[in-house]
Amino acid sequence: MLDAILGTAPDAMVIIDEHGTVLHFSAVAEQLFGYAPSDVIGRNVSFLMPSPHREQHDQYLRHYLDTGIKRIINTGRVVEAERRDGTRFPMQLYIGEAVTGGRRVFTGFIHDLTERYAHETRVHELQAELAHASRLSAVGTLASALAHELNQPLTAIANYMSAARDLLDAPGEDQLELLREACAEAAEQSLRAGQIIRRLRDYVSKREIVRERVSIARIISEATTIGLVGAREKGVSWSIDAGRAGEVMADRVQIQQVMVNLMRNAVEAMQASPVKKLTIIADRAGDDLVEVTVTDTGPGLDPDVAASLFQPFITTKRHGMGLGLSICKTIVEAHGGELEAFPNPGGGTIFRFTLARALKETGDDD
Ligand code: ADP
Repeated sequence: MLDAILGTAPDAMVIIDEHGTVLHFSAVAEQLFGYAPSDVIGRNVSFLMPSPHREQHDQYLRHYLDTGIKRIINTGRVVEAERRDGTRFPMQLYIGEAVTGGRRVFTGFIHDLTERYAHETRVHELQAELAHASRLSAVGTLASALAHELNQPLTAIANYMSAARDLLDAPGEDQLELLREACAEAAEQSLRAGQIIRRLRDYVSKREIVRERVSIARIISEATTIGLVGAREKGVSWSIDAGRAGEVMADRVQIQQVMVNLMRNAVEAMQASPVKKLTIIADRAGDDLVEVTVTDTGPGLDPDVAASLFQPFITTKRHGMGLGLSICKTIVEAHGGELEAFPNPGGGTIFRFTLARALKETGDDD
């Protein structure tokens, strides 16, 4: 009877006794994990979990039986499970408890989240691509507007100068007057071209920075949601240690942009590396600064780009714009900090930047 009910449940279901021994394994669970009930009935349920839960599951159960403190029972939780072939997948697990025939049993309903996660990852990836594309298109729009504006005075200069050259062929009093006019116009137009460039420079340097007190750990953690999308699927593991760094005075969105760029570059650099480990550390540096390092285990900097790494349009990537690092450097320097890169002694590259530490409010001398 129970088997018949379990057979119709849309989610996988596993029932264990209080020692963790599998009593029932539904047909959907069979499909999901790749085991036949005969393989699993009577075994300890921990083989469905990856380490470290596999080793600790008996302890979790013991703890509950000894103390009655419910950690997971009656509340759903997202955990990882392991199939027979060793592959892992995310699942939503609901555990219930029942007493049947004087025996305490635990029921686990398992909902496979693989598809939902794949979908969410894709959505995140698309968002990240979109954010990237809109930044590039903003740069593109600016560049084409600039090209258009500069084109006018440059064309005028070319016309005046070529007329001047023709006038030189037959110098007379009248021609001399025209020549003077042509040169004066050309000079004026070149000043106009200079003004356009100056306006652009002012625009870039005066772009308003909205500084606020903000925890660098928060900036980093928010940046990972875009910067590390798809990284796990590419085999990259990472560690983030920003707990001691405290707060900085910074434009949160701009520093996030720096972090996203550095993370994405690091993930891309490690694509073909045997070890793919990203380490992000934020800590205090001296009394006034916070230092952030982003370290990868990629191939290191290409010697051809190393010297001009932070110049715009320097790239080794087929579809790269070579703008990321130059924008990062502009942002960090506008905050009064420094951005530099050097080789990781263990192989790979370290990017390091500094920011001003937010001073504590009066009355607190930390
Ligand atoms: P893009 O990513 O469009 O090429 P960037 O300015 O972000 O532009 O990077 C410029 C170049 O710097 C890259 O093409 C790459 O050669 C190099 N680079 C950046 N980050 C790394 C890294 N973590 N490891 C190795 N090379 C890197």
